[in-house]
Amino acid sequence: MMEQFEPIPGGVLGLHDQRGMDMDVVSAARISFNYIPGTEIRKEDKELIRYLIQNSHGSPFEHNMFRWYVEAPIFVFREWHRHRVGWSYNEMSGRYTKLEKRFYVPASDAVRQRVGKPGRYTYETHPMGERVQYMLQANYDDAWRDYENLLAMNVAPEQARLVLPVATFSKMWATCNARSLMHFLSLRTHPTAQAEIRAYADQMEKLFAKFMPVTHKCWVEAGRKPV
Ligand SMILES: Cc1cc2nc3c(=O)[nH]c(=O)nc-3n(C[C@H](O)[C@H](O)[C@H](O)COP(=O)(O)OP(=O)(O)OC[C@H]3O[C@@H](n4cnc5c(N)ncnc54)[C@H](O)[C@@H]3O)c2cc1C
Repeated sequence: MMEQFEPIPGGVLGLHDQRGMDMDVVSAARISFNYIPGTEIRKEDKELIRYLIQNSHGSPFEHNMFRWYVEAPIFVFREWHRHRVGWSYNEMSGRYTKLEKRFYVPASDAVRQRVGKPGRYTYETHPMGERVQYMLQANYDDAWRDYENLLAMNVAPEQARLVLPVATFSKMWATCNARSLMHFLSLRTHPTAQAEIRAYADQMEKLFAKFMPVTHKCWVEAGRKPV
């Protein structure tokens, strides 16, 4: 694992493998003119990347790879897996393995309450965060006990898991390229995205900026939109 982080309590985000850099975008684009550039990025190469992003020429951003290792609650995976294009996923099975006793409990000051009207919500820290934590944990304990009881009764694991909440942690490999990553980040780092998936996306953006700094800078300056 190249880098590993804990975006939410109990969660894991690892960048397991990364291939490709800004110059791969340049060489992909310049093949149009029957030209293979060197490895050193020049001023005109940076301008080219800016032009490609501003004009939605997306395919040169696909010749690279980010392979993520993720441990997150099932409700985060459900949002993540909506990203279909340019992403490959493999997730642990609740059919072939016994799930782990790991559930997401937000930090007490990360328990939110919604304020405002539909479509214009803002969020504030809930005044009873510790009480909410207690209620969640009690619910998880009950669910886990029932899960183990069902397994002990020889109920198939894929049915025994029906009692477990969407806060249960799962694990996956998720592989994308810079184009599909920019699309994901445009939606999942946005202030309207749910805070838990945003925590993962914010960390992913830092790594994207580290490995492809010119592409990242141009994407930010162009308004953080899908390319
Ligand atoms: C804040 C937020 C709230 C959301 N709330 C809900 C919700 O309440 N309910 C819900 O169901 N989803 C919800 N979503 C998920 C959302 O609708 C998208 O499914 C998700 O963000 C993935 O985006 P995408 O389809 O653009 O990505 P991808 O699946 O990766 O697709 C990338 C792009 O490819 C093109 N494309 C992909 N598939 C097709 C297709 N079949 N036909 C034509 N073009 C295609 C589109 O241009 C698309 O933007 C929410 C997302 C966000 C960020």
